[in-house]
Amino acid sequence: MQIHTFPVSDGIETNAYFYIDETSHHGFLIDPAAEPEKLLQIIKDNNWIIEKMLITHGHFDHIGAVETLHKQLNIPYFIHENGKEYLTNSAFNLSSYFGDSISLNQAEFLKENDFVSLETDPHVKLKVIHTPGHTQDSVLFYDEQNALAFVGDTIFKASIGRTDFPGGNSQQLKNSIETKVFNLPDETILYSGHSDPTTIMAEKKNFKFFF
Ligand SMILES: [Zn+2]
Repeated sequence: MQIHTFPVSDGIETNAYFYIDETSHHGFLIDPAAEPEKLLQIIKDNNWIIEKMLITHGHFDHIGAVETLHKQLNIPYFIHENGKEYLTNSAFNLSSYFGDSISLNQAEFLKENDFVSLETDPHVKLKVIHTPGHTQDSVLFYDEQNALAFVGDTIFKASIGRTDFPGGNSQQLKNSIETKVFNLPDETILYSGHSDPTTIMAEKKNFKFFF
């Protein structure tokens, strides 16, 4: 499994992640955050087949390229079922604060403990773990076999997600981190929306400073 990180920006820099099976060159794009033309060029240059887009949560700075890639590549996009309000309400996805109005109406919805698997190899799969707190639709996508997870804005290297946006709740975030994130094995690598990768072990040490 290959993880390729591309920071993209529409004012706020966010990590877009390509999760690629090196045998088939098929994979997923996690958080198509911005700069669709750049992401399309990367896909083309690498001869990747992106089967699905996965969204860790419906904030504008994680979904800015979804519509263009959905149209150009004709691929579906997935978000937690609580994400419907975020994708369709510009006050919830925060795009209205930046004079924009993102509204995405063709998402497919995920629930806790669903698996998202590759069409070409169903053994390649990510588990959906619901981690509300930063938003009500926040999830992490967990690859048990390769001991890694895409965590969006729930937790960062030496930091945690903000809870002052619509649907944010600091007690819920604390609970999600303690009972869901820290339930993963210590060596699990965490790929976040806005920081370098970290591990469960490292963040367990940092956590006591945040609450
Ligand atoms: Zn966010």
